Amino acid sequence: MRFSEAFIHTLKEAPSDATLPSHIYLVRGSFIQGIGAGLYNFLPLGKKVLDKVRAIAKEELDKAGCQEVDLAFVTPSELWKESGRYEKYGKELLRFKDRKDAEFVLGPTHEEMMVNLVRSFIKSYKQLPINLYQIKTKFRDEIRPRFGLMRGREFLMKDGYSFHKDEADMIENGFNKMEKTYSNIFKRLGLDFRIVEADSGAIGGSGSKEFMALADSGEDTIVVCESCDYGANIEAAIRAKREAPKYSEGEEVEMTGGKFLTPNIKTIDELADFFHIDKYYLVKAVAKKALYDEGVEKIVVFFIRGCEELEETKACNAVNANELIDVSEDELKEAGLTPGYIGLTNLPQGIDYIIDNELRGAKQLIAGANEENYHQLDVRIPDYGDKFKDIIVVQEGDICAKCGGKLKHTKGIEIGHIFQLGTRYSEPLKAEFLDENGKSKPFVMGTYGIGISRLLAAIVEQSHDDKGPIWTKTTAPFDLEIIISNIKKEEEKKLGEELYAKLQEEGVDVLLDDRKERFGFKIKDYELLGIPYAIIIGKKLADGLIEIVDRKTLNKEEIQVDKILEVIKEKLA
Ligand code: ATP
Ligand code: MG
Repeated sequence: MRFSEAFIHTLKEAPSDATLPSHIYLVRGSFIQGIGAGLYNFLPLGKKVLDKVRAIAKEELDKAGCQEVDLAFVTPSELWKESGRYEKYGKELLRFKDRKDAEFVLGPTHEEMMVNLVRSFIKSYKQLPINLYQIKTKFRDEIRPRFGLMRGREFLMKDGYSFHKDEADMIENGFNKMEKTYSNIFKRLGLDFRIVEADSGAIGGSGSKEFMALADSGEDTIVVCESCDYGANIEAAIRAKREAPKYSEGEEVEMTGGKFLTPNIKTIDELADFFHIDKYYLVKAVAKKALYDEGVEKIVVFFIRGCEELEETKACNAVNANELIDVSEDELKEAGLTPGYIGLTNLPQGIDYIIDNELRGAKQLIAGANEENYHQLDVRIPDYGDKFKDIIVVQEGDICAKCGGKLKHTKGIEIGHIFQLGTRYSEPLKAEFLDENGKSKPFVMGTYGIGISRLLAAIVEQSHDDKGPIWTKTTAPFDLEIIISNIKKEEEKKLGEELYAKLQEEGVDVLLDDRKERFGFKIKDYELLGIPYAIIIGKKLADGLIEIVDRKTLNKEEIQVDKILEVIKEKLA
């Protein structure tokens, strides 16, 4: 491609809402163009990179025996009603009607569509397993689209679905196989990533893993062990039970049980100061409103130790809700609760509650008395049965449940997600096959996603400097750029054209900067495009020398003109 003819229009300024390097450079380098919240046009450079990422994913998936399909983006809402997700999915699901008043959704994911496809063709265990995927536009009306391609509303996803006769086959020939395949894809893209345990929603269990590109700008917090390979999204992380600290550092208030006047002492910090005891021995009550299908809402109180924080995803799963939202003091009062003094004793009728696992059997606690200005002393937590759930945030410095090592937090960008679905969709959609004994059974499924467009952002987050992105060899928009320093110099131009023709013949994807611009301008553009190497044809040509620039280091190497093809081929190999 000749720069003079290319649709490349680099910008000096970044968009005002761009804070991340990936967002800034992808727009400034004219890879993408923002046209509304979470909506982007892919320009020729961006499309090339996107296609490369997509091709690598496709190659590895096809090698693993997956088959590509392309299902309709506009999806009849009937299917979503059958699965029960029409209500549950919330506002991210864009619903609309056609001229005949028929209802549709824009696919945010395609479980229903895939199950519908497979149930109409696959009838016997002999036709299983099967793994179908597509690389296709998705639409999610995200509440906070931001960071460019990282969290768009319209974005490109690879979504795959596998169908099996039983769980063992799903794990071996679906889930585990995809874990390997995804690792291969991300390795080929040159990413530094980690596979972590992920939240599996209300289904629970360890049936879900995320692929996290490690980057400070990542939206996800992951918990990793300093000593072993344990890693989990904070939404799913576990730890060894916290050791009990010393009861009190200062003067203790004598615990005789019963109510104790604690005027205006409402927060955990105030309470710890008042009684001079460690927050571990205080019970924190976090009230939330849980939202369910058909507009049902319920106030739920989560009880945790004063030294802990509530993990909202865990809490949401614990009550099987679609979402948890904040609840106002007035709403609490209306429900018969006393804000600032909510405790386990005297909870009003109809208030649901969950207690953190680590409070099971705990003693010597101080908790709210459900009465203005009073706390309850010497509280014990008896066996509340299934009210105990893991609902706390694993903190830095906590102890690894696997090896006893120290846990720490780090940030990641979720680039892929693999999930053991079981019969979550095949059952409601009545997608069944006949097993070896002629018995009808629902398919056991797995579902596997990759954020193809988000990968562009993830790659740049991991690989950039203060001048622009540094694409890896497998993802760069061009293999090489040839910069003719001064297009008016006949010898420079002639050599540039010659090399351009020869390299193209060899199958190298070259960008020839043949514009009538200053050299400084051209090199800035080169840096902003992030192409792995540039050949600079300039003044030294008089001595038979040209330069090769390595985008990563920006080091320049002088090469004799007659050696250049050899050297370039070696570098690109
Ligand atoms: P997130 O927690 O980031 O919202 P998710 O759990 O909703 O992700 P999945 O439903 O598992 O994501 O979708 C599969 C993949 O699609 C994700 O791993 C991610 O890489 C990508 N993805 C999800 N939402 C977006 C988005 N709004 N923009 C770009 N990519 C996305
Ligand atoms: Mg999401």
